[in-house]
Amino acid sequence: MADREGEKMLVRKIEEGTVIDHIPDWKSDTVAKVLRLDKLARMQADVSVAILQNVESKTLERKDVIKIDRWHVDEGDADILSLIFPNITVNYIDDWKVSKYKARVPDTIEGRIRCPELLCISNAEREPVAPRFSTVKKERMLQCRYCDTLLGFDSVPDQVRT
Ligand SMILES: [Zn+2]
Repeated sequence: MADREGEKMLVRKIEEGTVIDHIPDWKSDTVAKVLRLDKLARMQADVSVAILQNVESKTLERKDVIKIDRWHVDEGDADILSLIFPNITVNYIDDWKVSKYKARVPDTIEGRIRCPELLCISNAEREPVAPRFSTVKKERMLQCRYCDTLLGFDSVPDQVRT
């Protein structure tokens, strides 16, 4: 288990929190953005975040890992991550026990992602409505419920509201 050893050397196990594993190498910044990890600084003082980049995985491919001590990632955010990175795994840790969250591609996403169409009612300066998308799973696209504009899953990080 040499691969695991390398990871252990970098950061200890956590008792309580979230481990986001199998992030494609060097993509942890995107994950941090979707999860709005910068907001943790203001939300909870006792949260620690370890971001590991380009570590060896079991398959000897490289990956990024994010460990968040004392904070559980929102399940809706985990689902959005699974759109962008289908192979990502989100593990919740409680009392040292690991439970893998089964991320699912949601049918609709509300509020978290901006419509790329600037003229969309969800982008209106006055009285904007909350953005709503339906997922078109086969095409790996989101479709705006108001203006039908399509957004590829890969472009979600650019449109995520922070
Ligand atoms: Zn729209």
